[in-house]
This record gives sequence, structure tokens and C-alpha cells, in this order.
Amino acid sequence: MSPEAYRESLRDGRSIFYRGRRIEDVNQEPDLKVGVELAVLDYEMGEDPSLRDVAVDHDPVTGTEFSRYYRIPKSCEDLTDRLHLIELGTERGGTIPPLIKEIGTDALFALLRVLEGEALEKAKAFYQHCRDGDLAVAVAQTDVKGDRSLSPHQQEDPDLYLRVVEQRPDGIVVRGAKAHTSASPNAHELIVLPTRAMGPDDADYAVAFAVPINTEGLNLYVSSFSGGEHNEFEHPLSSRTKMLESLTVFDDVFVPWDRVFLCGEPRLCGSIALTFVEYHRFTAVSYKLPLLDAFVGAAATIAEMNGVPKAGHIRDKLAALITYAESVRALTEMAALRGRVDAHGIAYPDPMTTNMAKFTFAKGFHEAVAQVQECAGGLLVTGPGQEDWDSPEIRPVLEKYLRGAVPAEERMRMMNLIADITARDFGGYHAVLAIHAEGSVEAEKMQILRSYDPQQAVTRARQFAGLD
Ligand SMILES: Cc1cc2nc3c(=O)[nH]c(=O)nc-3n(C[C@H](O)[C@H](O)[C@H](O)COP(=O)(O)OP(=O)(O)OC[C@H]3O[C@@H](n4cnc5c(N)ncnc54)[C@H](O)[C@@H]3O)c2cc1C
Repeated sequence: MSPEAYRESLRDGRSIFYRGRRIEDVNQEPDLKVGVELAVLDYEMGEDPSLRDVAVDHDPVTGTEFSRYYRIPKSCEDLTDRLHLIELGTERGGTIPPLIKEIGTDALFALLRVLEGEALEKAKAFYQHCRDGDLAVAVAQTDVKGDRSLSPHQQEDPDLYLRVVEQRPDGIVVRGAKAHTSASPNAHELIVLPTRAMGPDDADYAVAFAVPINTEGLNLYVSSFSGGEHNEFEHPLSSRTKMLESLTVFDDVFVPWDRVFLCGEPRLCGSIALTFVEYHRFTAVSYKLPLLDAFVGAAATIAEMNGVPKAGHIRDKLAALITYAESVRALTEMAALRGRVDAHGIAYPDPMTTNMAKFTFAKGFHEAVAQVQECAGGLLVTGPGQEDWDSPEIRPVLEKYLRGAVPAEERMRMMNLIADITARDFGGYHAVLAIHAEGSVEAEKMQILRSYDPQQAVTRARQFAGLD
């Protein structure tokens, strides 16, 4: 799909609400357009002759070309290529991935691995539809969840987890809401997955399916976080990049049977949820790498610009930041290298190493932010705005007094990059994204414990203690 065809395809009557208003065209609403243009980068990559080897694949039987994100991984090498593709997309997106094929294919690979029989055939047909149409796909897994200590059927309001309210000869009707759905306002299709393992009493909540975004009854309430005009001087990245998230409400949405992958089978919920997460956390750590590189590069550069690159405490901080960024990178690469191939011939990243990468990233993030900010100084929040910088009367004063070991302009631009990614609203977005997106820190710890085989360690400890 060309970038223009993609923009045009979003004018399809989808039901989007933003800041109290119904939005007719996401291309026309400035805050939402920034999210659309982030996704356009994906289609531009597909058309860039210099990226054909990286971004485009072809069907070995029909020769049809398709986006490389849709390549079903068959080997550790495919997983490593996927990592690099996601990293490249995020670099172009200024620390945010386009995320219109990354998360969708994470879900599709999971469905292709877990489902059986007729459900698997439906998932294969849907995969083909998305791949051949070059479609943008969002994933709604996280339910709104109500009281977190209660399971779905125990909630006071039965709609706090998405559920099937009616089964008909031609399909099902679902009601409920999913939270934090990324890229939904600018996707074509939405894959819906269960968020957790479920027991027999939760059968109505055991549901997985896919619907076009413009389906009747599907209402997206888009988050206003980090909205509003962001000028390029104070917000070098967030003036041009933004991911859109929605509260995704299913107001008695009809789903035809050929789009229903799971209905009333709680036994499969846990494995669908976890298999998706195996891919999705790998995607997560792959797209964090450009931001972590930016932390290292910005800290080193601003220290130079401040004239203190050789100070002992600065070198300590740089060593810590490098260790952090490269530990996440090494663990992510290792997750691919330790990948395995399942009975369907589909490769998946090593779950323990993937979760270790995500855990290392999330736990270290706020400390890394503090280190970068320490290297920079207080101008991060006391510096001049774009209008002052543009004023012929004020600018000479700023140029005289805000210079460091380099002219003020260079120093202020680097300062503003650091402010954008660590201190302003975009920095706040990154901070919460680091902790919660793709699963909270506790979820990663649970998966590390679950996937670690303690036998060798226990045997050694018992031997060393003289017990065996
Ligand atoms: C920017 C962003 C983008 C996202 N994009 C998507 C997306 O595209 N699709 C999607 O499906 N999801 C998405 N998510 C959702 C993300 O996966 C969740 O935020 C994450 O799983 C945490 O869920 P929650 O936000 O409901 O927080 P909660 O689950 O409410 O967690 C809050 C705290 O409560 C704790 N807690 C919760 N339940 C329990 C319990 N039973 N016992 C003990 N402690 C508990 C948690 O550990 C955490 O400390 C996104 C999130 C963010 C922030």
C-alpha cells in the first residue's frame, strides 16, 4: 500500500472520539495526524529502494511481495532480522515504532502457533488477508479489568472483561472494553485476544477474534496525553512523532464466525495470552534500543558541550548508561539466538531471555533518566521557548549567556532533545511506557521464574553443600 492509499483508507466511517468530539477524519485532526504520519513511515520504508532487502519479502510460491513484518519466523536468523527491522522502524519514528504491523504480527504468529483445526484455518486465512492487503493491525488484549483481585465472572459489572453476550448461527455478539490499545485509530483491523488464563466459570470471557476498525458498535476513545501543538525547537522529537492509544469499547459488536478464533474455550486463554506476549515482549525490547542509544549519545554529547566530559562522575554515569543500553541489546539479541522452532516450524524467541531483557530495561529506565538529566543540568526545565529563540531582540542575550564549551544553539538543541525524551510530557509517556507497556514489571518477573529450569542450579547447590 502506498503512503497516500494508506491515509485515504482511514476515511472509512470509523467511530473515533477525541477531546469530547467525534472525529470524522483522523487525517484532519492535528493531534491524531501525528500518529497517522508515524505509521506512514512503515509504508515509506516499503517503497524505499535502499530498504528492499530489509523491509520487503516475497511469497516463495506466488512471488507476491509483502511487508517483511509479515514474514513468519522460521529460524533464529529470521528473529534477528525482525529485531533489526523493528529497530530501524523505531529509529525513523524518533524513538517510537510505527507499530502497525509489529504488534499485529506478534498476535498472528501466536494464533498460528496455538490454534488447531478449523480455528487455525481461520487464523491462516486472516493472516493472508492482512499480509496481502498490507494492512495495519492493532491488538486489544488488555481488558479494563475492574477490581484486579477478582476474576472476570466475579466482577460486580460483568462487562469489565470483554465477553460474548450472544451466539447466533452467523456469529457472536461481544460487549466490554479493552484499555490502552495502541495505533487503533489508524489501523485497518483489530485483533482481540484474552488478557489472562481463565477457568471454566469464565467461559463467556474466553474469546479471540478480529474485526475491521470501522465495524459498527466499535468506539475508540483516544487518549489526549501529550496532545497539543509541540514546536520543533522545544520538542525536537515529539513535534513529529506520537503513538495513539484508545479506550476501545465494544458496544454489542457482531463478529461473523469466520473471524472468531476462540469462543467459550477457557483452556486456551492462557496459552494464547502467553504466546502473544512471547513475541510482543521481544518486539518491545527491539524497539527500546534507539531510545537507549539516544540516552548514551545525548549524555556524552551534553557533557562535552558543558565542558565536563572528563569529570570522574560523568565517566561513571556514561559507563553505567552504556552498560544498561548494551545489556538490553545483548539480551535481546540473545533472545533471538536462543530462539526455538515449534512443531509447526515457527520460530519464537527464548521466553526467559526475552523477559530478562524487558525486565532489565524496565527496572533500569528511571535510573538511566536520572543519569542523563544529571549530565545535562537544570536548563532542561528552565530553558527558553521557541518564541524567545526566534525573537531578534532576545536571541542575542540567550546566545551570549547560554553557551557552554560550544555555541548556545547547539547546546540548547541537545538540551531540548534530552528534555523531550526525559522531562517533558513525551518523557513522561516514555517513563510509563517503560514500566507498563507490553506487561508490567511483575509480569516479566513471573515469566522469568516460570521459564527458568532450576534443575542444574539446584543440583550444583546440593552438591556443593555435600547433600548429594
Ligand atoms: C503506552 C502503552 C501502550 C499500550 N499498548 C497496548 C496495546 O496496544 N494493546 C494492549 O492490549 N495493551 C496495551 N498496553 C497495556 C499494557 O500491557 C498494560 O498497561 C499492562 O499490562 C498493565 O496493565 P494495566 O495498565 O491495566 O495496569 P494494572 O494491571 O492495573 O497494574 C497496576 C499495578 O497493579 C498490579 N496488579 C494488577 N493486578 C494484580 C493482581 N491480580 N495481583 C497483584 N498485583 C496486581 C500490577 O503489577 C501493577 O503494579 C499498553 C500500555 C501502555 C502504557
